[in-house]
Amino acid sequence: MDRTFSIKTLGCKLNQYESALIADRMAKRGWRIVPFGEPADLVIVNTCTVTDKSDKKCRNYIRQASRLAREGRVVVTGCMAESPAGFPENLPGSVRVVKNSGKGLIPSMADGAESALDNDGFDSPMPLYRTRAYLKIQDGCGGNCSYCIVPSVRGLPSSRPYGEIMEHARMLAGSGVPEIVLTGITIGKYADSGRDLADLVEGIISIPGDYRLRITSIEPGDVSGRLLDLYSDAKICRHIHVPLQSGSDRVLAAMNRPYGRDFYLETIGRIRARNRDIAVGTDIIVGFPGEDGASFSETLETVGLAGFSYVHQFSFSPRSGTPAASLAGTTPRAETEERSKRLRDLAAGTGLEYRRRFVGTALRCVIERKGRALVGVSDNYLKIRLAGGRTGIDPGSKFHDVILDSAEKNGCLGRPVV
Ligand code: SF4
Repeated sequence: MDRTFSIKTLGCKLNQYESALIADRMAKRGWRIVPFGEPADLVIVNTCTVTDKSDKKCRNYIRQASRLAREGRVVVTGCMAESPAGFPENLPGSVRVVKNSGKGLIPSMADGAESALDNDGFDSPMPLYRTRAYLKIQDGCGGNCSYCIVPSVRGLPSSRPYGEIMEHARMLAGSGVPEIVLTGITIGKYADSGRDLADLVEGIISIPGDYRLRITSIEPGDVSGRLLDLYSDAKICRHIHVPLQSGSDRVLAAMNRPYGRDFYLETIGRIRARNRDIAVGTDIIVGFPGEDGASFSETLETVGLAGFSYVHQFSFSPRSGTPAASLAGTTPRAETEERSKRLRDLAAGTGLEYRRRFVGTALRCVIERKGRALVGVSDNYLKIRLAGGRTGIDPGSKFHDVILDSAEKNGCLGRPVV
């Protein structure tokens, strides 16, 4: 019988990884995946609840899923399932809610076996996409940033066993995936039998094979000297993402972030001292309660000093159940939008400056399709649209040298080396 399912994933790389896990196991049980949007026997929505916006999106997708699912068989999982505060009301009865810890149950639930947890003893999904494989190493967070819902939906930090990760990494490297992306909630807190993140990275890059390793978001306090030393290895992508959130010590204290501006800039200085070509990205929250013109200017100044290659900017979104949700001094929406625009403009400038340094050089890229365009993604996270489309692209090889011809505010253009 041709049983079909679809899965809609929102949020972070960890959610992407877990969707790959669910899809991998469903396929092993004989289910066929169809694109979300097509009718299916089972529709899964893997939700995110990090901001109001993500809640709103999830509600819409859950309603859409109820329409797409034959016999209304819908499974809602992910972080929204942990905090039903933003859940859509009057959902049809056939919608099942599965918490993060139960995600492994979904395939057996799909087959009607309530409790059987699929455990092939080797929890290592193949990626949904061929060019980039997310590798879960850690989950949860022990921090208590005053605005953040994550610890209450993802729980305390837990690290995946070193041996299991190494076996999964060997499988991915052997499968021909060009890029392995380490993922978790606070990967810098990885700890297993006395090994930390640097030990794990060192272990993974010792695996033979033609692939590269991307280290994703890491808290400022977890950027160790040993980890930075490993960035000299050609297998490690010249890219690091270190959330700043604000450049004002007063606002950082109200956010309960465990560092100050000077420490943050010193951390960026240590990264640049290792290799000035490393792409440094960050997250910044604009409009946090109590943020005024002066403290926002400090954020802009910090962005200028850090010279980020990109900034993910978020407008403050009060999450019920977090301390920041009841803080006084709400920033008016118009003010937040005006500041966000100034930050985007500044970040566009520092990003352009960074990209322009590579114009005329050949960068080793993984080629991905973005809509109708082909885009080369370099290790230092430049996304280069290929002017000539497929011309010169050897579909057989997984890496391609791409010459960066131009870098403008709206993006980069390049062509494959032939
Ligand atoms: S470190 Fe802070 S922002 Fe990050 S997940 Fe933990 S509590 Fe949230």
